[in-house]
Amino acid sequence: MTVFAASSAASAASAAPVIAIHGGAGTLSRAHISPEQEGAYHDALQQVLLAGQAVLAQGGTAVDAVCEAVRLMEECPLFNAGHGAVFTSEATHELDAALMDGATLAAGAVAGVAHVRNPVMAAREVMRQGQHVLMAGVGAERLAREAGLQMVVPAYFSTAARRAQLHAARASQSGAVLDHDGAAALAQRPLAEDRKMGTVGAVALDARGHLAAATSTGGMTNKRPGRVGDSPLIGAGTYADDRTAAVSCTGHGESFIRVAAAHDVCARMAYGCQSLAQATDDVVHGALAAIGGTGGLIAVDRRGNVCLPFNTEGMYRGLARVGEQPQTFIYR
Ligand code: ASP
Repeated sequence: MTVFAASSAASAASAAPVIAIHGGAGTLSRAHISPEQEGAYHDALQQVLLAGQAVLAQGGTAVDAVCEAVRLMEECPLFNAGHGAVFTSEATHELDAALMDGATLAAGAVAGVAHVRNPVMAAREVMRQGQHVLMAGVGAERLAREAGLQMVVPAYFSTAARRAQLHAARASQSGAVLDHDGAAALAQRPLAEDRKMGTVGAVALDARGHLAAATSTGGMTNKRPGRVGDSPLIGAGTYADDRTAAVSCTGHGESFIRVAAAHDVCARMAYGCQSLAQATDDVVHGALAAIGGTGGLIAVDRRGNVCLPFNTEGMYRGLARVGEQPQTFIYR
């Protein structure tokens, strides 16, 4: 597997700050994609990385950097989070997000929100308040509103492409062919998102040697209302611990929950003395694959090593070290 290694001289105290992001994993539809459409994804990833890199370069914390990166991806309709989130089976939106600070193990998360423009900011507010870790539904929304976060009508999250995906998912469930509009809309995306992958996430190491992870998602297309995936569950889709790594996952959430994927990476490093590469490889290609779990994750350790493994055909992803050009990837 590819390891984006920090420079060999890097110690935990001297590693260059770095941010890595993902925009979901899935199945390739490369044949249907024009270079322009593919370029739009690379451009979006690049812009997000530049913004996260700037936060780190200015001495911002890993928490600041991952929140800004995820917030920007929530604003971008290409990704399944915030504006552009997928639909439930009842054509509604239910968004999940989480944030974890590796320095303190403080964490905040929200599940099933439908009126918070940037769910990652609500997760940050839950973490800041510190009384609870995971808030769901109307209680989470009340907390966000009281904190002065921007609230929106649910239609804000809807896009024509996501509605077409819902129609396609419904049609394939009933054994029918893809809705024509659905097929056309789906073909605008390098990864075949009718395979229910999406989600955004970021992990970072800051100049003080602290780690953080954040994840945000609309969940899975055609999910039952009330379903919560791995993204907002600390230890499943999101985890950060300065002693080991920061991890953000994407894929079939139920599988990631069952293997506690994000925490498993950190546990393998802490208890088994595995490297980041070994631990992420074992979780994605071992523990997850063993139960048929598809998807991937992004991870950074305290030395600035970055791993971006996935067991699908592609994953929107990239990384940027302070002082270096961002790198973005879609396919293997
Ligand atoms: N993991 C997310 C969920 O299950 C979906 C995804 O990553 O696309 O909600």
